[in-house]
Amino acid sequence: MEFNKKHIISLLIILIIGLGVISIASAYTGTGFSHNIPFSKYHDLSNSEILNKYEDTDCHIERYGVCTQVVDGDTIYLDSGEKVRFVGVNTPERGVEGYIASKNFVQKFCLNKKIGLDVDDSKHSDKYGRTLAVVIVDGKNLNEMLLKEGLAEVMYIPPSEFYPFNWAGDSTHIPNSHTTYSNTQTDSDSGSGDSGSYIGNSNSGKFHKNTCKWGQKTAEHNRVYFNSRNDAISQGYQPCKVCNP
Ligand SMILES: [Zn+2]
Repeated sequence: MEFNKKHIISLLIILIIGLGVISIASAYTGTGFSHNIPFSKYHDLSNSEILNKYEDTDCHIERYGVCTQVVDGDTIYLDSGEKVRFVGVNTPERGVEGYIASKNFVQKFCLNKKIGLDVDDSKHSDKYGRTLAVVIVDGKNLNEMLLKEGLAEVMYIPPSEFYPFNWAGDSTHIPNSHTTYSNTQTDSDSGSGDSGSYIGNSNSGKFHKNTCKWGQKTAEHNRVYFNSRNDAISQGYQPCKVCNP
């Protein structure tokens, strides 16, 4: 009898400890996003081999910083001590499958390097005091790259200047992406005609004056033309911060 009681007590203790561990672990899994991309996938690729697959972003660098630490695939520290959270995306937390691959990817492009930031004008920081921003490396949007590589999931928390579904290439979330805009959209090989006063970029969700260099750099297959500012706004596009259309 004595022996059985001891057994029951030790079983209960094990059970209580077990439940405690499970609840602590689940508190750190964030949204639970995971992926099974091997962490060695990018080892043999140079940064430029990866960057060259991407178009230059029309996000505007507002300031620069040197990355001194990569916490995980969506959070870094700058030399100023500032903590930056990549806006619009979420990568696996520590202990979740895919954590190392996402973190390695960001380290490859950011650690001990000078990076550009486009801070979210609609919401500068989150409740933890982390700066919310697009991280720009060699003219490319690293938040967008994380999504397109499958290393991050979209985490859209309005209000936000940025619309990450566009970066993910998820056309089902692009407002009216496949509608034709009256007669303002020209045939790309017609070479003539009014191409509209404004150029939208369906990848970034921004629009520009047709004289803006960032508008002109927009890849043909991402271009949408508008005749008026109101047309662009009503289609869900955000004005470029450089040309202020
Ligand atoms: Zn512009």
